[in-house]
Amino acid sequence: MTRRTPPRPLDVEALFPEVVPFRREAVRLHPRAGAPTCGDSSVGGPLLWPAREPWPECSEHRRGSPMVPVAQIHRSDVPDVVPFPDGCDLLQVLWCPCSHEGGWVVPQVCWRSAGAVGEVRQAPPATEAAYGQVPRPCVVHPELVTEYPSWDLPYELWDALEDRFVQVEKETGWDYQYHLSTAPGIKLGGYPGWCQDPQWPNCPDCRAPMDHLLTVESTEEADCRQAWTPVEDRDARLDGPALVLGDLGGVYLFECRTCPGRPFTHRHDS
Ligand SMILES: [Zn+2]
Ligand SMILES: [Zn+2]
Repeated sequence: MTRRTPPRPLDVEALFPEVVPFRREAVRLHPRAGAPTCGDSSVGGPLLWPAREPWPECSEHRRGSPMVPVAQIHRSDVPDVVPFPDGCDLLQVLWCPCSHEGGWVVPQVCWRSAGAVGEVRQAPPATEAAYGQVPRPCVVHPELVTEYPSWDLPYELWDALEDRFVQVEKETGWDYQYHLSTAPGIKLGGYPGWCQDPQWPNCPDCRAPMDHLLTVESTEEADCRQAWTPVEDRDARLDGPALVLGDLGGVYLFECRTCPGRPFTHRHDS
């Protein structure tokens, strides 16, 4: 079944034309519990991982600890919001779900060609994961949506618009930040789903600001974000990956698309 986010309840661009230059497209993955195969795009599902490559392990433990699948995305399954590297048509994201000093998870990003995988490696059994940090297997229902920056709105624009945001909320009940700007849940491209002040990273190699690749938020079901619930899910409980990241926060993956090897890093908040 497809998933359709309802249109924004207000005309954002007519009310706040200043945000139009900052419009971005994102792909909401809408993961729902299921039984994806390693050939499918998924969240928390089996990966198309070549048998000839070792399974990725986290080096932050005395003995290497196997990472767990977080997302696998075939290029052909998603609208074109993130450019895949030349020759690659598969994005794989894993993370170590164990406890770490100063953070909840340690992610790994891998781009590859699905056709070159050959024999597939089974994931090793997971070690003791921290609570809520292993996504349960979900099939995905990718959907293209339009976003406007919330926490990422430049300070001077926020200052210029704040009174109008307040006024519009008073008149309509719709809040710019929660209901009109960025989509909750797990998404490719668009704006990170920060729930606190942005900590946008610079590339360790070229020092330029990195690009947002993927947001993994604990849930897409926050009460205040009813405006973002797909029409197909209105009357149902969302049966998603059941992640609990910190106090229902998120993990945000960034990459540099100009440096060789696409360096990546992550941020998180709670
Ligand atoms: Zn680890
Ligand atoms: Zn760079």
